[in-house]
Amino acid sequence: MAMAIGSLSRFCGVDCRLTNPPPFLSFSSSSAASLSHHHPPLRYAVLGAGFAGLSVAWHLLTQVAKDLNVCIDIYDEFGVGGGASGVSGGLLHPYSPKAKLLWRGAECWNESMKLLSVAEAAMGFKETAQLDPEFQGLIVRRRGILRPAVSMKNLTLFNENAQNCLASCRIEKVDEDAAQTLVPNLSLPFNTAFYMPEAVNIHPQRYLQALYLACESLVKESCYSGFGGKELYFHKKSVHKLLDLKGEYQAVIICLGAKADTLPELSGKLPLRMCRGVVAHLQLPDDIGEEYPDHGPSILSDAWLAIQGRRSLYMGSTWDWKSRNSSPNVSTAEASEALKELLPKAYAIYPDLKKWVFAEARAGLRAMPPLTPYGSLPLLGCVNDMVGGNSKCKYWFFGGLGSRGLLYHGWLGKLMAQAVLSCNERLIPSELTSWKNINR
Ligand SMILES: Cc1cc2nc3c(=O)[nH]c(=O)nc-3n(C[C@H](O)[C@H](O)[C@H](O)COP(=O)(O)OP(=O)(O)OC[C@H]3O[C@@H](n4cnc5c(N)ncnc54)[C@H](O)[C@@H]3O)c2cc1C
Repeated sequence: MAMAIGSLSRFCGVDCRLTNPPPFLSFSSSSAASLSHHHPPLRYAVLGAGFAGLSVAWHLLTQVAKDLNVCIDIYDEFGVGGGASGVSGGLLHPYSPKAKLLWRGAECWNESMKLLSVAEAAMGFKETAQLDPEFQGLIVRRRGILRPAVSMKNLTLFNENAQNCLASCRIEKVDEDAAQTLVPNLSLPFNTAFYMPEAVNIHPQRYLQALYLACESLVKESCYSGFGGKELYFHKKSVHKLLDLKGEYQAVIICLGAKADTLPELSGKLPLRMCRGVVAHLQLPDDIGEEYPDHGPSILSDAWLAIQGRRSLYMGSTWDWKSRNSSPNVSTAEASEALKELLPKAYAIYPDLKKWVFAEARAGLRAMPPLTPYGSLPLLGCVNDMVGGNSKCKYWFFGGLGSRGLLYHGWLGKLMAQAVLSCNERLIPSELTSWKNINR
């Protein structure tokens, strides 16, 4: 079923689908206005409503020249956040496990923070947070992530890398005493942890719902603006092959996460490895008085603890490279294997976790990209060659977000939207498109 959001008139009967690059950004308002009166909407299909797909949809709506009519169809077989994004730990910071700033970490961090603000504004929670300092935002669950050093080698590297941290996401070195003021009874094997006070832990499902809401609001606003109209439709259905969408769209942007290679046109052509991860939800029983501190950070160690509240946290994650199972459902056997693996790692840092009890488990499938000299970078670019046919700038791929989807989705979603709108793949840094050459 399609939900119509914008309902501006379409210019039926005139088939003026653009074959040339659509005017983009720099288009002058008078010529854009005349175009909007004579052309049907530019139609884009975004496949997948996870971090990647919703970031692309938002940026298509915001980056397209104001005066143009644009219509976006989002397709997802399970709804918003139905894939790995919806079950992720929600941990967001721009550093590698050795505290090294990741490739283009500043841009990625800034754009993801901007999207978070967009989502928060759409839900209208900021005001509540300002009125009540104890309020834990419904999207941002915690600020602050603590990473204990777990080996001597690790410690030396941390020290070096932390020197180059971003001013907007600082890394502070703390000893066990200082760490215990943040989280009582924390145990640091090397008496050192690296604290990122600005790093965040979000509730991924709420974030995605809010980002979708923001897209809807933008479309509604455009109805009153008097400029070009915008339309947004959500189709809760499976896409079985790209050619089913042929002819309808200026461009189709494939953001299907680990299931992208189930499309017959892309099958076997994407250099991705899949890896299933299980996350366990733990709660503090009612009869335990001592809660996790209100402003206590999340913890990133061999197992991570994404704090949701004083008595609720998620613990992750397993790495099953042999599984291609993308179901969020976790059997009792799989859950108990995951607990056996994760609990000892978590107890080593936070022994008080022994008081917490298991509530449920869920899982997702990561799409892991190959390692490059710049790290494991997502895969972007135009994939007409792979799909076949003679269309230009028609099919675009945005995937392989690995285990860092939250960090990458903001900036790369923006770049992808700009490249699609201007039909210019060169707007995407070559580090992200070079996988296509290797593949060939
Ligand atoms: C256990 C676990 C924990 C993680 N923790 C973190 C974390 O803390 N921080 C972080 O940054 N990253 C984390 N990640 C990684 C992050 O979840 C991914 O990088 C991110 O979700 C990828 O986003 P995506 O939009 O590319 O894919 P997805 O979120 O998988 O989105 C793809 C969408 O496409 C839909 N779809 C698929 N096939 C079809 C089809 N044929 N037709 C229609 N719809 C279809 C799916 O339903 C899905 O909603 C974690 C991953 C896992 C598995």
